[in-house]
Amino acid sequence: MMGPPGAGKGTQGELLASRFNVPRYATGDILRAADREGTELGQAARKYMDAGELVPDELIIELVGEALGAPAAMDGYLLDGFPRTVAQAVRLEALVRNTGRDLDAVVNLVVSDDEIVRRLSSRRVCSDCGTLAPTETLRTECPECPACGGELITRPDDRPETVRRRLEVYREQTEPVLAWYRESGMKVLDIRGTGDVECVQVRILAGLV
Ligand code: AMP
Repeated sequence: MMGPPGAGKGTQGELLASRFNVPRYATGDILRAADREGTELGQAARKYMDAGELVPDELIIELVGEALGAPAAMDGYLLDGFPRTVAQAVRLEALVRNTGRDLDAVVNLVVSDDEIVRRLSSRRVCSDCGTLAPTETLRTECPECPACGGELITRPDDRPETVRRRLEVYREQTEPVLAWYRESGMKVLDIRGTGDVECVQVRILAGLV
């Protein structure tokens, strides 16, 4: 799953992974969980994430390498938010080759910058477990995490000034990955990421089959 921050990679990725019954590896979620648990990886990643910068390639590649080498990934997997640099894409090629498989497709969610800023400024996540609060929850009188009852907060990197930096980083470092995949002949699906969640999912599925 590729696309700018707030394009819906997590939401659409979760639906796809459950439909195809494969694990979803979302590098951002893994890093945030590591941060909540206070691990060394989490501490190392945090300063980059809060500033809207990318975490160094080596840290991320190690993390993805471990995930793809696990038995759970034997029958396929969905990557969400990885690769984000051409160097990561090159390393992913090697990792995938080692598992004797190929990547099937890149799903690129296309959403305008205005829409991203709007979405991220209203996004709330649980401070305890990281669950993304659904819109219906936010409309209730006393919103709380639907999974654990925890407090809902704005993700530190969803603040407007950090969002602007994340968008710059996306243009500078991640868009070239899409060009790289197109040149290499990979199936890249450009999917309009606006409208109902279900409609976006239908567009993705239509492109995949
Ligand atoms: P996300 O939840 O996908 O929006 O990711 C949040 C943050 O985690 C990013 O802004 C980066 O700081 C970091 N991150 C997630 N995935 C990667 C990656 N593949 N490479 C480098 N940094 C990443």
